[in-house]
Amino acid sequence: MTTEPTGQTEPTAPSASTAPRAPLSPATLAVSAGRPPREQGGPVNPPVVLSSTYVSRGVQQPGELLYTRMDTETWHPFEEALATLEGAAEPGIVFGSGMAAIAAVFSFVPAGGKVVLPRHAYQVTLGFADDLAARHGVDVVRVDVADTEQVIAAIEGADLLLIESPTNPMLEVADLPALLVAARERGVLTAVDNTFATPLGQQPLALGADVVVHSVTKYLAGHSDVVLGAVVTNDADLAARVRAHRTLHGAIAGPWEVWLALRGLRTLALRVERSQANAAEIARRLTAHPLVEEVRHPSLPTDPGHERAARTMSGFGSVLGLRPRGGREVADALVTAVELWVPATSLGGVESSLERRRRFATESHTVPEDLLRLSVGIEDVEDLWADLDHALKVATGG
Ligand code: PLP
Repeated sequence: MTTEPTGQTEPTAPSASTAPRAPLSPATLAVSAGRPPREQGGPVNPPVVLSSTYVSRGVQQPGELLYTRMDTETWHPFEEALATLEGAAEPGIVFGSGMAAIAAVFSFVPAGGKVVLPRHAYQVTLGFADDLAARHGVDVVRVDVADTEQVIAAIEGADLLLIESPTNPMLEVADLPALLVAARERGVLTAVDNTFATPLGQQPLALGADVVVHSVTKYLAGHSDVVLGAVVTNDADLAARVRAHRTLHGAIAGPWEVWLALRGLRTLALRVERSQANAAEIARRLTAHPLVEEVRHPSLPTDPGHERAARTMSGFGSVLGLRPRGGREVADALVTAVELWVPATSLGGVESSLERRRRFATESHTVPEDLLRLSVGIEDVEDLWADLDHALKVATGG
């Protein structure tokens, strides 16, 4: 049994006036949601409670905390804030990693069931699905998520459509509204990995998704210092099943990590605004660069996902794809030549980073060998550009 979060957050708008108030913007909610009650002398930030167990006698009452693998008050402010940002009726459910959250979503698929997901989803998500196929006879269908007709044809008889948009690392953009409607009409459960877009970029629940998952590790926490995940849903029954999964499997989040994630969340809007602007500017300059073969970023008018992203998202994200002229060797040399950009996996931190994705044997083989995934951070764009431009010249010997 888990306890329900105790809803200890203050109202999102002061209630002194009876005049109708405009809804608060997401940027404001990221700052204001999940705060302790405004009591005289009370803290403005929630405390971290380090306790594995709670005083308890007899039968557990509703709302009573019992044991930290099941529930702890230290999760609640973050869970509340994330649900507020995603527009969810239920509190979010935080996990020890994005993959733990994704595993909880896959638990909805029965043995012998069917899952449809993008062929360029995060490689470990694809690996998880393959493991379900091998061990539980699940039919896993990989689709080009940008091809709406292909996805709709594939979801006939499916138990779960897991959408990533934009995809990692190819940045394909799905027609989210169309896919979510089609899945609902066919009774297919839908989950959207909203890690790349963030709740500020798109709100899948409002478009009809059953579940949203996040690697909180990335933009939500934002500082490359924690690994966390979360599930968000409007559906009380699904939420209860996800919480039960968390309790059973034990992939729980540590209190300090969740506290850090909430602190990171406070600056989400500023970080996303700055990193998106940087990414769009760097993408624009790269398209005109003589040492560049191809650039992918939905902000580019020539990008296959541009029109759709402009219609369905607010903002174009901060990850871009780059293929330098000269192939894989030049791509590897570029990763070595940068001095400011950090050569590292992951994304969504304040610092800019890059890596060649096919260095992982497990990466999808339809991802080009020379594709670099760039996660653009919040540094000064001129510094980022100077370093990248210099590294391109060094890598190509030009
Ligand atoms: N979803 C996406 C889109 C990701 O990029 C990642 C990690 O890179 C994950 C999920 C998994 O998250 P985590 O590394 O927090 O387990």
